[in-house]
Amino acid sequence: MDTDVIVVGAGSTGLAVATELALAGVRAIVLEALTVRSGQSKAMNLQPRTAELLDLRGLLADAGEQAIGRIDGGHFAGISLDYSALDTRYPYQAGVLQARVEEILENRFAELGGDMRRDWRLTGFEQDDEGVTVQGPETLRARCLVGCDGGRSTVRKLLGVDFPGTEATRWNTVADVVLGAGTAQPPTGWTSMGQARRRRPDGTFASVVPIGRPGLYRFVYSGGEADEPTSAEVADRFRLFYGDEYTLLDIPYASRFSNAARQAEKYRVGRVFLAGDAAHIHLPVGGQGLNTGVQDAFNLGWKLAAALTGRAPDALLDTYETERHPVGARVLANVLAQSAVRGPDPGHSALHDIVTTLLAAPDANRVAAGMISGLDIDYGGPGHVGTRLPDFQIGKGWASELFRAGRGVLLATDEKHLALAPPYRDRIASTLVDALPWKNVEAVLVRPDGYVCWTAPGEDVTGPLRTWFGAA
Ligand SMILES: Cc1cc2nc3c(=O)[nH]c(=O)nc-3n(C[C@H](O)[C@H](O)[C@H](O)COP(=O)(O)OP(=O)(O)OC[C@H]3O[C@@H](n4cnc5c(N)ncnc54)[C@H](O)[C@@H]3O)c2cc1C
Repeated sequence: MDTDVIVVGAGSTGLAVATELALAGVRAIVLEALTVRSGQSKAMNLQPRTAELLDLRGLLADAGEQAIGRIDGGHFAGISLDYSALDTRYPYQAGVLQARVEEILENRFAELGGDMRRDWRLTGFEQDDEGVTVQGPETLRARCLVGCDGGRSTVRKLLGVDFPGTEATRWNTVADVVLGAGTAQPPTGWTSMGQARRRRPDGTFASVVPIGRPGLYRFVYSGGEADEPTSAEVADRFRLFYGDEYTLLDIPYASRFSNAARQAEKYRVGRVFLAGDAAHIHLPVGGQGLNTGVQDAFNLGWKLAAALTGRAPDALLDTYETERHPVGARVLANVLAQSAVRGPDPGHSALHDIVTTLLAAPDANRVAAGMISGLDIDYGGPGHVGTRLPDFQIGKGWASELFRAGRGVLLATDEKHLALAPPYRDRIASTLVDALPWKNVEAVLVRPDGYVCWTAPGEDVTGPLRTWFGAA
């Protein structure tokens, strides 16, 4: 074997999977077709749950340094959601560009000794009982393969996994543009996902959002076909929406995106896994695509590492699909609902008005904010089992700091609940604490991705320990 895992695609998903593997001491090679990081501005926000996950590994501070700003809330179909009701240290969307997320993860992967190969396009692969052989500029062999190669995933296609959903019926265009002042100054500071928004009587819309470097903006406009946009078209549309308000100086990059919504039928076939856009695509309303992919990666990474190092049974790997497929389906459903609420017909406008009224109610806001932020994800189980551990202070530090090494965490208010921990020392950090975030909970066992897998009082811990962390 050349390595343990081959990860195809050095987007945010692939790099997050690879970093998790490297942290656990599992050898991974990342194969990326591009010669250099694209640097394009697509995603520009960390939803609260993604911020929490990066914080578990100590990566959020790196992102924060370069943040372009923050928005104190999210939105559902453009209707503001108040995140202050959420029980998190990050009740906002942190403005971190996709390129920066990729850079942070790539740097960490390199620090951990990871093997990253650019200008390397996967063209084929075969799997057998022992491993997967990958073809491209060279032939490589690994025990497992993870396809994080985006919406047009070659891995998914070669795997023969169906990608059902709804066809594209509308195209929008995204361009990085350099702007100067015209009759007005372009906006400064990131305050929403759709700044300087303009809507024309025919229902078409546009926005320009500053993306960190002085003069550089993300220009998004509705319309276009399945072809790639030309600079002439982008310039024309810019004039249509903004006239001489701002001056368009340059167009370093432009691309189309559609409202197609599709999800891979399976996330695992034998030794091959799909994650991120390779497993689900949708319109980027609400700012959820990169976030869902990074969350897929944090779910899969530690499980793959545990199974490959023999610390957990192979069955643990099946929980990746059983947990993440419903999450992806739910994101697609909320995106389709948002598209309906934003539609052009009078009926859509009426729906928009009603949803706006409903979301002003605190309970409805909490439900929608929980969904878009990723904080309400519940993988199922009694009580708090299946939900995330909200971060809380332990002495002068935070519970999140115990997850830095990628191990599980056992926290107990009574020593008796720590008795089974010693044989799991390599997999679980255990600590006696004064209090836990919930009343009537004496102990909690948390997976490396921050989700609760056992609480006391309740069932005996032996079963959950074995399921999630293998034999003692
Ligand atoms: C206009 C726009 C705005 C968006 N805004 C947001 C937002 O605000 N918030 C949000 O969360 N999401 C947003 N998204 C979605 C987000 O950009 C994607 O969900 C995210 O890029 C998915 O990451 P990924 O790593 O799964 O895939 P990708 O970023 O597509 O990465 C896949 C990588 O695989 C490589 N690759 C492909 N095929 C091969 C091959 N055969 N061999 C080797 N390498 C290969 C590609 O070169 C690429 O680097 C937006 C998307 C668009 C288009």
